[in-house]
Amino acid sequence: MIKISKVLQSKIDTVDFNNIPFGKVFSDHMFFAEYTDGSWQNMEIKPLEKLNIHPANLAWHYGQSIFEGMKATKHFDGSPMLMRPDMHIKRLNASATRMCMPEFPEDVFIEAIEELVKLEADWIPKGKGSALYIRPIMFASDEFIGVRPSDNYIFIIMTLPVSLYYSKPLSLKAEESYIRAANGGTGEAKTAGNYAASLHPWKLAKAEGYDQIMWLDAIERKYVQEAGTMNIFFVIDNTVITPAADGSILKGITRRSILEILKVKGYVVEERPISIDEVVQAHKNGKLTEVFGTGTAAVVINVKDFGYKGEKYGLEVDSYKVAPFIKQYINDLRDGSEEDTFGWMTKLELQTATAQKL
Ligand SMILES: *Cc1c(COP(=O)(O)O)cnc(C)c1O
Repeated sequence: MIKISKVLQSKIDTVDFNNIPFGKVFSDHMFFAEYTDGSWQNMEIKPLEKLNIHPANLAWHYGQSIFEGMKATKHFDGSPMLMRPDMHIKRLNASATRMCMPEFPEDVFIEAIEELVKLEADWIPKGKGSALYIRPIMFASDEFIGVRPSDNYIFIIMTLPVSLYYSKPLSLKAEESYIRAANGGTGEAKTAGNYAASLHPWKLAKAEGYDQIMWLDAIERKYVQEAGTMNIFFVIDNTVITPAADGSILKGITRRSILEILKVKGYVVEERPISIDEVVQAHKNGKLTEVFGTGTAAVVINVKDFGYKGEKYGLEVDSYKVAPFIKQYINDLRDGSEEDTFGWMTKLELQTATAQKL
């Protein structure tokens, strides 16, 4: 059992749920745990508060910091729902191993998420596509200057209500200079440094009028990897293609779910290396009908055009079929209006008023 200390006064009445700025509004509580003397300790759900941290905090200097991103949604009957939380803790622990950090126990993670989400159930916005975004983060906390793995770590889970935002179709720049990840590097880990390294090339792409980068492989700048911080899909000649998870792309859980749904629905899907030349050629032949990015936060964002070697290639987002189908399907699983034949959803039972009285 995780200890729970509640806030005296909830902040929920100060939030306008019709107008929630993304990433800025936090719920009342957080889960907190410390790794010290070789084990996770002091596990507690408590009021979200600022941390008191030493300037020599190891994570800030040498980057041992990893995170996850998941969502709790509301079933149409009002119960909170989680989607594939087991996949998120497995990926968190894979990131931890890569960054030489301790794993977090799977069962405690699931319990912490479930208890936190039940406690913050009123913070889950209603309405298809809106959600309580869940952000687990683990970072080194030794007070030490010198490169070595930390002995102490902090693990926190915070939650943020997010409304359905109209995700504007993206313009992507196929990036020929900078890279996101190389085989053997940290591309498969959800680790802070990957995002820091992407900011400068992103800024340059934005100055050229693009929204995001289409990342190409580190060796030949030939094979497509991802779209910004999302996985990428192409529909060519009615085949749905996504780059193979070869060691340099982040193994998105949305990506995996989409592949599984499409296979069951009878689509032809391929996970394989896909070169930018193949994409351009398919566009020229009129066979490239869709390009879209996928991730937990937005589920699916359409790509309206991409630039490569000074040429722009436009796409007819209004005639996309696979992208809107998959977005609707996942959002329907998340509010219970699509039957969960995959067994991905966990529905949490809120304590009833009578149960509390007993
Ligand atoms: C988190 C992330 C994704 C998407 O993963 P999901 O599990 O689908 O949210 C894709 N690419 C990068 C770089 C990411 O960090």
